[in-house]
Amino acid sequence: MTASFPRAEVVIDLSAIRHNVALLASRAPGAQTMAVVKADGYGHGALEVARAAIEGGATWLGTCSLGEALALRRAGIGARLFSWLDTPEADFAPAVAEDIDVAVSSLDELARVADGARRASDFSGLNVIARVHLKIDTGLSRNGCPPAEWPALVPATSAAKPLIEVVAIWSHLACADELGHPSIDVQAKRFDEAYDIARAAGLDPMRHIANSAAVLTRADLHFDLVRPGIAIYGLNPVPTADDLRPAMTFKSSVVLTKRIPAGESVSYGHSWTAERDTTLALVPVGYADGVPRSLSGRMDVLLAGKRRPVVGRVCMDQLIVDCGDDEPPIGSEVVLFGKGTSGEPTAREWADKLGTIDYEIVTSMYRPRIHRTYLEAGS
Ligand SMILES: *Cc1c(COP(=O)(O)O)cnc(C)c1O
Repeated sequence: MTASFPRAEVVIDLSAIRHNVALLASRAPGAQTMAVVKADGYGHGALEVARAAIEGGATWLGTCSLGEALALRRAGIGARLFSWLDTPEADFAPAVAEDIDVAVSSLDELARVADGARRASDFSGLNVIARVHLKIDTGLSRNGCPPAEWPALVPATSAAKPLIEVVAIWSHLACADELGHPSIDVQAKRFDEAYDIARAAGLDPMRHIANSAAVLTRADLHFDLVRPGIAIYGLNPVPTADDLRPAMTFKSSVVLTKRIPAGESVSYGHSWTAERDTTLALVPVGYADGVPRSLSGRMDVLLAGKRRPVVGRVCMDQLIVDCGDDEPPIGSEVVLFGKGTSGEPTAREWADKLGTIDYEIVTSMYRPRIHRTYLEAGS
């Protein structure tokens, strides 16, 4: 249930997640779909998104950290789980024991994963085998094994048998959201070369490299598995006409209205002054709830069904909306951003104004003061 008068609430439409995952899976018919749910499901709630994504056709879930993957497994998620980035003190034993696929970019990581499998085996008395996805750095220069070291890493995996098994080689694209960017083909070529080396060493790995942008624009890069993240939340990183539906709506309520005469100024610093008598509505969300203070004076909200400007500074806990001669009732709904289908702003609109990407907007909505609720059917 959504609150009757939410203070700061994000409402997640799980039917949108199911729809988006099904759409993405249909775009990559020859591949399996891994729904990326890192960062608490891009701020939408990893577990709830994971369940909806599986209903939508995902057979894998991707997380950044082992802790995120273990939390999903322990909450009853049975799908394949893949996790790719941890700190050097990470213990791979529990992850391997709980059937989580892990990424390896270096000899050092390979040794630590093998050690985790050994300890998990000793502990359980079973032959626990770590399923490894070897990461080749094809040009993002983040994690991944540089091509120069790949010919040494690949054979080292044979030496680590039977504690580990290489099930995939994978990589990540730097500029997939810029259609036709020359780096995409460069990365694809290096990926092919890495695959050839793995095959020559006797491996028969799956391949995966496609993020959301590549799922939607580069069918040649779908391979065996695709890893969409942002698009499953309904935000499209590329200008295609795909029917992706934003899953997150950020809401609040009017708690007070008042009439002020022309010439009165509003909020800290008096950065806005009423040019005529007007009605103000007070909304109890501010920068502590994820409304960037730098949007002061340049954002709108949908308040009582109408798009209206936020005036004066956004404060820590409050903002003020100019309603002109309207008198919205106390408790009126305020939509800060949402699907955009009723005239409300979208996360993309915020991102464009802030000079960032909508990924950053939705992931920053995971805050203790924001209440999160889930819509099931398309209600
Ligand atoms: C975040 C991430 C993805 C998903 O990227 P989107 O652009 O959100 O689709 C895929 N793979 C890796 C390794 C990632 O870190």
